[in-house]
Amino acid sequence: MPENGFNAEGFFADGGGLTYSDFIILPGHIGFSANDVDLETNLTKNLKIKRPLVSSPMDTVTESKMAIYMALLGGIGIIHYNNSIEEQVKEVKSVKRFENGFIVDPVTLSPENTISDVDKIKEIYGFSGIPITEDGTLKSKLVGIVTRRDIDFEVNRTRKLKDVMVTQLVTAPAGITLAEGNKILKESKKGKLPLVDKEGCLVSLMSRMDLLKNEDFPCASKGKEKQLLVGAAISTREEDKERLKELVDAGVDIIVIDSSQGDSIYQHNLIKHIKKNYPHIEVIGGNIVTAKQCKSLIDAGVDALRIGMGSGSICITQDATAVGRAQGSAVYHCAKFAREYAKIPVIADGGIANIGHIVKALALGTSTVMLGAMLAGTSEAPGDYFYEGGVRLKKYRGMASLEAMEKGGGKRYYSEEEKIKIAQGVSGTVVDKGSVAHFGDYIIKSLIHAMQSLGYRTINELHEGLYNGTLSFEARSPSAQREGTVHDLHSYTSPDVALFYPPDRKIR
Ligand code: NAD
Ligand code: IMP
Repeated sequence: MPENGFNAEGFFADGGGLTYSDFIILPGHIGFSANDVDLETNLTKNLKIKRPLVSSPMDTVTESKMAIYMALLGGIGIIHYNNSIEEQVKEVKSVKRFENGFIVDPVTLSPENTISDVDKIKEIYGFSGIPITEDGTLKSKLVGIVTRRDIDFEVNRTRKLKDVMVTQLVTAPAGITLAEGNKILKESKKGKLPLVDKEGCLVSLMSRMDLLKNEDFPCASKGKEKQLLVGAAISTREEDKERLKELVDAGVDIIVIDSSQGDSIYQHNLIKHIKKNYPHIEVIGGNIVTAKQCKSLIDAGVDALRIGMGSGSICITQDATAVGRAQGSAVYHCAKFAREYAKIPVIADGGIANIGHIVKALALGTSTVMLGAMLAGTSEAPGDYFYEGGVRLKKYRGMASLEAMEKGGGKRYYSEEEKIKIAQGVSGTVVDKGSVAHFGDYIIKSLIHAMQSLGYRTINELHEGLYNGTLSFEARSPSAQREGTVHDLHSYTSPDVALFYPPDRKIR
């Protein structure tokens, strides 16, 4: 074995399937500061983003809330399609309409509603500062506001809001800048700042709770019109052409064709259909794990490829079908082929369980990573938290789990006449990770330090090192893997707790 490990070609030469935990990357020389690291990368052939992070189109991972924060952080979210066309379009529109710091669709009530209605909202959404409008809808005249302190000690929860709401309001005119709004919020010491039009009708809301989040996001992923970028997934079913049309009309930027085995006649036809009818839309095809599959989808016209079959944390595909590939090998071989054949970037999807795995995927040639389990416990993921054994959890499930298929109305996994549901995923839980606004920052900062340790300033340079053989890999024996993580302690505190209340958010 060479003293300095193997280059990737040598390391992956023997044909065995390897994945992230099977190897370690040897350090390079640090000749620059961490501030010099730039994580910009190609999401697709024609689209760059500042951070290599993509949230998975799963119904327990990405709806508009997640997609908004992924884009603000410089990554992107892909809205799932286990819903009606109207619901998916609504999520896409929410991202495209998002204005940083302004809640453009606040929950409102009318003076005739009761305190118990506020209780219900608190239970579902977790907040209790509610603007009260004349008829209880947005765009109606603002007449008051109810906050926690107005109702906390009220015993009679059937009292009408008109009897408890505050009517002396600090408001601001719609159209003010984020900085102006933040200043008013700070000076007024109020929890909420309603923004109203000339007629006094409610247009949007700013929240003191969001003051931290209201910072500028200089790395945000934005399109030409300065709106956040967003992707949406669709299936290869004929009926999803209608979904596609509606998503394009709603302003979606990227379409992900979602399938576990992407090299199908159905996907070929759909790629060609999108490229012919909507040439401005970037198309991500997949999933694939071999160079032959890559060639097939590149020839059909994709702008990026999604790599991974059977590697997801909730996945039972390899047990159920014996088809797939170890994810490290899949990423290395597909990324290399797609780069040499057509300069098409790839997305490493599935099996990323920690930040080190993201670094390893990048070092194997991927341009971005797609995350499911790692993001499913954040507050921006769909679904409510609940407790089990004293631990705060959220539900996370495969899109081919029985539960998800049921929710989707059984549109997947049945041929027309088939009645038996074949699951390729499971339902489970993940622990609370706090806000993705914090957790995402933590990931980004870690990636910057990893790049510095490897001695590469950019992902492009890292890939050059991969292909010219200067990046070195070494296999990890089972005991090396054990040594490479916490060991031999009676107990310890995971750094994950730092993610909930990070002391420093100045990474952006
Ligand atoms: P799919 O819709 O691509 O395929 C389901 C079945 O429908 C397949 O038999 C397929 O050939 C068939 N089909 C698709 N389009 C058709 C058409 N136009 N006409 C006739 N038949 C058609 O979905 P999937 O591969 O089962 O995946 C379902 C979900 O589960 C996706 O979200 C996917 O990402 C996820 N999944 C991912 C993996 C993975 O390893 N990445 C594995 C399993 C499932
Ligand atoms: P994770 O990041 O390891 O949790 O993997 C997420 C990825 O698993 C997704 O992006 C999909 O590619 C894949 N996936 C989603 N649902 C299923 C499923 O039901 N079975 C198998 N794989 C799935």
